[in-house]
Amino acid sequence: MTDVNTLGEFGLIDHLTKSFPITQPSTVKAVGDDAAVVDNGNFCTLIATDMLVEGIHFDLVYTPLKHLGYKAVVVNLSDIYAMNGQPRQITVSIAISSKYSVEALEDLYAGIRAACDAYGVDLVGGDTTSSPQGMIISITAIGQGEKERLSYRSGARPGDLVCITGDLGAAYLGLQLLEREKRIWQEHPDVQPNLEDQKYIVGRQLKPEARRDMIDAFRKADLVPTAMIDISDGLASELFHICKQSGVGALIEESGVPIHPEAQMMALQFKLDPITCALNGGEDYELLFTIDPKDTEKVRFLPDIYIAGEILEADAGIKLNTKGGKLHEIKAQGWKHF
Ligand code: ADP
Ligand code: MG
Repeated sequence: MTDVNTLGEFGLIDHLTKSFPITQPSTVKAVGDDAAVVDNGNFCTLIATDMLVEGIHFDLVYTPLKHLGYKAVVVNLSDIYAMNGQPRQITVSIAISSKYSVEALEDLYAGIRAACDAYGVDLVGGDTTSSPQGMIISITAIGQGEKERLSYRSGARPGDLVCITGDLGAAYLGLQLLEREKRIWQEHPDVQPNLEDQKYIVGRQLKPEARRDMIDAFRKADLVPTAMIDISDGLASELFHICKQSGVGALIEESGVPIHPEAQMMALQFKLDPITCALNGGEDYELLFTIDPKDTEKVRFLPDIYIAGEILEADAGIKLNTKGGKLHEIKAQGWKHF
């Protein structure tokens, strides 16, 4: 028997799905992007799904159920926005053990409701079942996009500019902080953690937002990114996906990677290099996208977008030009392990 770890997450998905033929003419994009794309004539339907498992993806010691519900929706919507589409509906499936009360599940659904309200999507179905222990949440988001305006991972071309929205690394540092405070609390239950000074990074971990505003801004600016992906596993991993699927290389400037001051400070406290947190942390749910250089003027005036590098030919590899002027190979380490 082969250990699943020998393939890694993406190797495993590829191994299991590669022999499936596409038989429906309406299947435009199957496995391999942020969302599947189905041609419906005038528009395309986008479908993205994600599963969260208690003890692996969330820890209820420091995650309020309302926040969990909100985040579980947002991470799926982020995958629809990453195609340059608009989410419209979600389905929510839960498996729960007997330790969950009705009140606890009401809290979870209050968060799901808040996300539906904030992003304008409808809850249209799901499934409810029992689990031997803990909770599993699986959400599917269904969205819409125009065929000519969709951005796949595969569209980056040499000469394109690499852009990043918001800032990176904060959600990972928020998680490190929450984990540290949990350990302290477990050893000294009388000491209350003080997270007041770190509201930004804790918020980034517990209540992320998807970049709907960017998709709206792209439309207003008449811009279609040549490639796009949401940053759920860290910049390194996402850049690797774009480069691999587009058959290109990339050069990123460390000075061009946006990192929030609070994340910088917390990285130093943990004796981590902030750029390492941006590259290999995760859960920022920002967008990584590439644009044709002729569109540079269109993004220059959009707020919260940073030009961080350039797409190169494949043989140039994927590299980081550090602030010290050294070239480092970027390796995709942000992969989830089993
Ligand atoms: P993301 O991080 O954007 O959610 P994933 O890395 O989870 O993307 O998935 C990559 C691609 O593989 C997606 O197209 C997803 O639908 C597909 N995929 C993941 N797991 C499976 C599976 N068990 N069977 C079929 N397709 C899968
Ligand atoms: Mg994604």
